[in-house]
This record gives sequence, C-alpha cells and structure tokens, in this order.
Amino acid sequence: MQNGRRVVLVTGSTSGIGLSIAQKFARLGYAVALNSFEAEAEVADALVSFGNAEVRYFKADLADPRAAFDLVGQVIEAFGHLDVLVNNAGIQKVAAIEDFPPDDWDRVRAISLDSAFHTIRAALPGMVERRWGRIINIASAHGLRASPFKSAYVATKHGVVGLTKTVALEAAEKGVTVNAICPGYVWTPLVAKQVADQARVHRMSEDDVIRNVMLAPQPTRRFVQPEEIAELAAYLCGDMARSITGSAISIDGGWTAK
Ligand code: NAD
Repeated sequence: MQNGRRVVLVTGSTSGIGLSIAQKFARLGYAVALNSFEAEAEVADALVSFGNAEVRYFKADLADPRAAFDLVGQVIEAFGHLDVLVNNAGIQKVAAIEDFPPDDWDRVRAISLDSAFHTIRAALPGMVERRWGRIINIASAHGLRASPFKSAYVATKHGVVGLTKTVALEAAEKGVTVNAICPGYVWTPLVAKQVADQARVHRMSEDDVIRNVMLAPQPTRRFVQPEEIAELAAYLCGDMARSITGSAISIDGGWTAK
C-alpha cells in the first residue's frame, strides 16, 4: 500500500448510488472527484453535501468516448494521481426489442459499458506504476440475470461483468483489483419517483407497488439502500480485500439466489 492521501473518481456521482459512494470515500479521507454531464451550477447541492472534504467536480458526458478517457487525465492533473476508479454512471431504457430505438441502445451501452472501457484504459497504467489500485464497476443483478424489455441494459451490464473479469486477470499480479458490484433494486430518487407513478397507474397503494410490483424479484422485499453499496465499495478498497478480484458481488436481497 502506498502512503499519502488517496484519490477516488466516481462517475455519475451527483445523485443516487454514485453520490453515496463518493460521500463514503470523503468520510474516509479520500480526495474525491465527482462527475456527471450537468453544468457545475446544477450540482451545487451535491457539492455542498461534502462539507469541508476535498472534493472537485468534473463535467464530462460519458456518452462521448473521448470525454470518458479525458476525464481520468483531468482528475490526475488536478489531484496528482488516481487510486480508486468507480464506474457508476448508467441509464435505463425499457422497450420491447422490436420497438427499441437503436439510438437508445447505443446510448445505454456507451454510458455504462464503453465509458468503463475508456476510463479503465486511462486509469490502469498509473495504478500499475504505483503498484496499488482498485477498480469497481457498478453492474447490476441484470449483469447476471435478464428481465424482459431491458435488452440494452441487460446486455450492457453483462458486458460490464465480462469487462471486469478480463481486466482483473490482466492486472492480477500488479497490485490492482477489479470487481463488479451487482445490486438489486436500490432506493434512489429515480426509483422513488417510479413508485409514486406506478401507484397512480396501478391504482394501488405505494406499499403494494413496492412489495408486489417493483420488489417481486427481490426475496427480501426491501430496497437495498445506497449506503449499503457504498460500504461494500469501501470494503473492496481495504487491504484485507486484496484477494477479491474478478468477482461479480451480488447485493440484491437474494434475487440471484433463485
Ligand atoms: P441515478 O440516475 O440516481 O444516477 C445516475 C448518475 O449518472 C447521475 O449522477 C447522472 O448525472 C449520471 N449520468 C447519467 N448520464 C450520464 C452521462 N451521459 N455522463 C455522465 N454522467 C451521467 O442512478 P442510480 O440509481 O444511482 O444508478 C447508478 C448506477 O447503479 C447505474 O449504473 C445503474 O445502472 C446501477 N444500478 C442501479 C440500481 C437501482 O435500483 N437504482 C440497481 C442496479 C444497478
């Protein structure tokens, strides 16, 4: 393990899971690079939530391969090096395959899978040089199981798991671990909004929608909380996790046990 303060980049970290992971690392004393495609003024609330921690915002639209690659360079220029890369940005699109707009297929894949390829390509050499690094890709239960009408998301997240395993093998003797976290349904603002919408459409109570519609595949019938994902990410960055690499770690309330 190297000395000095560690630096983490979390992509797509102005809300939900990414923000929670970034806040956890800030509490651990890391310098934190936040990212999204929004203008800095739009993410003021997220930045304020870090208090006095060392945090900087890097605007980059990860649908653009060049922007994804350059983001890592900008973080290294600002903080001196990069120790932990968390590829978290991702979007969803729900449609039957015959109705699936090809542009949406490209966008879902570009933001989640292609951007991870480009950020890893940019970040790995510095980690190898310093003989220490952690790469964590936020995949999904949908990286291990399918659901109908989510072809791009399921294919992309399976791809993220495959990318994770491959890079883990390439980096295995170089002090860098590479893992995927595969959450089930996580309670984020995006999901909260879906509950209210579905309750209206189905004429059901919000509790019934959560239990019998949204959480039907999740045996615990409880949302995973973003903080639980953040704790797991932090654990993977400890030295006692140095033998965990190439893993797709489920945190899904039993979904993939079925
Ligand atoms: P979210 O919508 O709350 O946050 C997504 C973040 O990504 C935001 O900060 C957004 O600004 C950013 N982002 C979106 N498009 C971007 C782009 N083009 N360039 C840069 N940043 C962009 O989502 P979330 O629910 O927190 O999901 C985060 C990750 O976790 C995603 O990869 C998602 O697939 C995965 N995931 C979520 C759940 C869930 O139930 N919420 C379950 C499994 C996996």
